[in-house]
Amino acid sequence: MTLEEKFELMAGDDPVGVFTSRPAIGTSDGIPRLGIPTLYFTDGPVGVREGEATAFPAPIGMAATFDPEAARRAGEVIGLESLAKGNHVLHAPTVNIMRVPVAGRTFEGFGEDPHVAARTSVPYIQGVQSTGAIGNVKHYVANNQETDRFFTNAVVAERTLREIYLPAFEASVKEADVGTVMLSYNRVNGDYVTENEPLVNGLLKGELGFDGFTLTDYGFAQRSTARASAAGTDLEMPQEGWYSGPALAAAVASGQVPESAVEEHVHRILRTMFRFGIFDSPELPASSPFDEDAHHEAAREVEEGAIVLLRNSGGALPLGAAIGSIAVIGRDADAYKGGGGSSAVTPTRTVTPLQGIRSRAPEGVEVLYDEGVNPLSAAAAAAASDVAIVFASDTQTEFVDKPCLTLQCPPGNGDQDGLIERVAAANPNTIVVLETGGPVLMPWAERVRGIVEAWYPGQAGGDAIASVLFGDADPAGRLPVTFPRRAEDVPTAGNLAQYPGIAENAEYSEGVFVGYRHYDEHGIEPLFPFGHGLSYTSFEYSNLRVVPDASRPDTATVSVDVVNSGDRRGSETPQLYLGLPEPDADTRQPPRALRGFERVELAPGESRTVTFQLDPRAFSHWDEGAAGWRVADGCYAVEVGASSRDIRLRGELRRGAAGGCVGAPELLAG
Ligand code: BGC
Repeated sequence: MTLEEKFELMAGDDPVGVFTSRPAIGTSDGIPRLGIPTLYFTDGPVGVREGEATAFPAPIGMAATFDPEAARRAGEVIGLESLAKGNHVLHAPTVNIMRVPVAGRTFEGFGEDPHVAARTSVPYIQGVQSTGAIGNVKHYVANNQETDRFFTNAVVAERTLREIYLPAFEASVKEADVGTVMLSYNRVNGDYVTENEPLVNGLLKGELGFDGFTLTDYGFAQRSTARASAAGTDLEMPQEGWYSGPALAAAVASGQVPESAVEEHVHRILRTMFRFGIFDSPELPASSPFDEDAHHEAAREVEEGAIVLLRNSGGALPLGAAIGSIAVIGRDADAYKGGGGSSAVTPTRTVTPLQGIRSRAPEGVEVLYDEGVNPLSAAAAAAASDVAIVFASDTQTEFVDKPCLTLQCPPGNGDQDGLIERVAAANPNTIVVLETGGPVLMPWAERVRGIVEAWYPGQAGGDAIASVLFGDADPAGRLPVTFPRRAEDVPTAGNLAQYPGIAENAEYSEGVFVGYRHYDEHGIEPLFPFGHGLSYTSFEYSNLRVVPDASRPDTATVSVDVVNSGDRRGSETPQLYLGLPEPDADTRQPPRALRGFERVELAPGESRTVTFQLDPRAFSHWDEGAAGWRVADGCYAVEVGASSRDIRLRGELRRGAAGGCVGAPELLAG
């Protein structure tokens, strides 16, 4: 290869694909003289962005399944459709942690907890890459807000980065062997990520062992030629700018960019192309058919597992035989609701909630529909029916954060809180189905009998929602995010330096106290806690066993028996939390942190032993002084529960001579 040919591979070649989706969202031309094929890229996490594709539930819903198999299946289908549409690289998944619940891309990520994000990301990427498509985990790293997204400097301590914002990327690299990583727009601790040598070459490629290639987020992420190259930025997207031939030639000629660095960038790109067989079948057909029926069904199944039953007063759900008439209310009831920006998908077909309810309602049950535009008419429809089901949603997209956390925000959806209040006043048997991308405030929560969170439910959402409402499926989803009672309760509330930042600096001074860690630490009662989700049956937990591994340091097995104590089949997700001891006054630990979960489906009376393996990392905190993971001596609280606020069984583990913990089984010190 000539040097010029190497430069060509370091930048994309299509500035307009991102607007036209043709021939792809992004393209990096190959070199015919050398038989190097052209690479095609597409978005994104919810489904393929080009043309019509299967729209899955929003990734926040995939996380809510607490089911790795659901994430794997979604990834597999989206990977297949990427290839069918002629794309090698899929810009997904988004694994940025929800730091602030108004963040515009909350729907696109996997929630507020690093363990859930990692456990969802790994199977998603494995699913994508099992098809031969290349995963692209994004946006590395600390890309947690849309306000000032091209400039924000995340000022974040190393421990916070390691414990909260990095684990999902780390697992995507180490466990899923993701092919590519997208470098985000923002800065971290002063430097743009694309110029951040310690984060990219040092941590990602060096320490974590990432051997694929990095590419920039589109348009504004890259800010320089030499600094970007030195940091480890391999491919500039979507077109050349800083990595244009002349710019690179000048930088190499002046010695600012060593030729060895160019070799390294190109080597990574080509090695990844060889790894994924792109040289073996160079040109993908632009559009080959895929199994639309099977993929639609996959979207339905994932959504069925994603739906969270938040409130069910007096057993309002599932809808039973006594229901002779249903008033379905709200514009969203008869629309396809999805998130915006690069994750928007044009579905191959849609089933709206109203269609789903109409086709599932037993014969003889009357289904009325009112758009909810006129609250008086909605209230009249509600009053005339046995049950009123109101649909309400928020609006999320990249580029902007939501201006507030209520259903009135952003404006445009009308006074949805007012509509719900009116309907609830007209019919006490009111159920609210939310199609939101994340937490919203619910001032009316106590005045409705049922609340269902369906997220942005994907193209088959209407059928999945109906099957949960009528009880064909047990609501199996659990919350991957905390729903606060009041806007003032969220971690960064009232602190402009934390969010959205002052003079472009967003101080992550809340540290590791993100999501439920914040609510637990400050004793704030959430509206619905992290991990929460009701079933139509009931489960009992017993027989907690906490057994240190006598042969391996800092390793233990925790198991618990779960029995379905009700009279219906149903799903439960036992969750294991650890409370770590504080090694010193400067290292505050949250009361609990999720370290394991497993979703089980049980018949009435059936029981299952659920086992969690805890490795040294589970007991570790990031030790800033030693710049490494460390297990502290002390007492470890072991909690198993049905949510972060519904702990059913408690145990302890001791490391060293821990006061207050005498008698607890002892972890073998590492
Ligand atoms: C988004 C990325 C996306 C890219 C290409 C950017 O605006 O931040 O997530 O993959 O556009 O559409």
